[in-house]
Amino acid sequence: MAVLTDYHVHLRPDEPDTPPERYFTAENAERYLEAAREAEVAELGVSEHVYRFRQALEVWRHPFWVESALDDLDAYCEFVRTTPLRLGIEADLVPGAEDRIASLLDARHFDYVIGSVHFVGDFAVDHEEYDAWEAIGDADAIWGRYFGLLAQAARSGLFDVLAHPDLVKVWGRGRPAPERDPRHYYEPAVEAIAESGIAVEVSTSGLRKPAGELYPSPGFAEMCVEAGAAFSLSSDAHRPEEVGHGYGRAIEFLRGLGVGEICVFERRERRLVELG
Ligand SMILES: [Zn+2]
Ligand SMILES: [Zn+2]
Repeated sequence: MAVLTDYHVHLRPDEPDTPPERYFTAENAERYLEAAREAEVAELGVSEHVYRFRQALEVWRHPFWVESALDDLDAYCEFVRTTPLRLGIEADLVPGAEDRIASLLDARHFDYVIGSVHFVGDFAVDHEEYDAWEAIGDADAIWGRYFGLLAQAARSGLFDVLAHPDLVKVWGRGRPAPERDPRHYYEPAVEAIAESGIAVEVSTSGLRKPAGELYPSPGFAEMCVEAGAAFSLSSDAHRPEEVGHGYGRAIEFLRGLGVGEICVFERRERRLVELG
């Protein structure tokens, strides 16, 4: 049976004052499930940001995490298990803290873990307040470090899916682009993807950002296909109306690459199913 998935989904926006009691409710879950039915998404899961939970401070104490880590991770997991949603989480790679990330993840029964790179060192590629370009400046240095960390995330064995794989392009023309051919930066990441077997996320969220295109870019995606990678499909929705957003484009993109199957997850077991 052909299936569409949306696994990288947040039950609430990233803005402050979005407390769990307002969003981790049966009514809100039903809004997302209804949106999924309308978009013909059969497999819907949620993946809240790990840094919004107090337990994440055992992993990293970046100021952004300290101000964000307000909620209880176990209450989130328990809530999701009362719904038909798959239970996931979006967890950042924090270099040097792999053991602590593993303890946090292994203590809970997720259906899947989505691994992200948002930060290079203490600076973010997608957050204006901690802007990497302002702090580091050189676009080639930022891209090099970003894709190095992405490779490290793939190889860490901590994650089932590599989120928005070329997030570093999120600002589009709003930030300087690297001078070197981007393929130079994709290469080490693709090698790590091939070696680790981690699933590569095709995310439509880039369509809603200044970048204005899917993650990953066509060039990066082609290299992943050549390397034999498996793909997962998600929207990175932060509100119900974003579930399945831009899927026409994403399906066409995958088919154009010759990809006819996507990943489904349950209790961290992965299967490939027909895309459709
Ligand atoms: Zn993310
Ligand atoms: Zn996300």
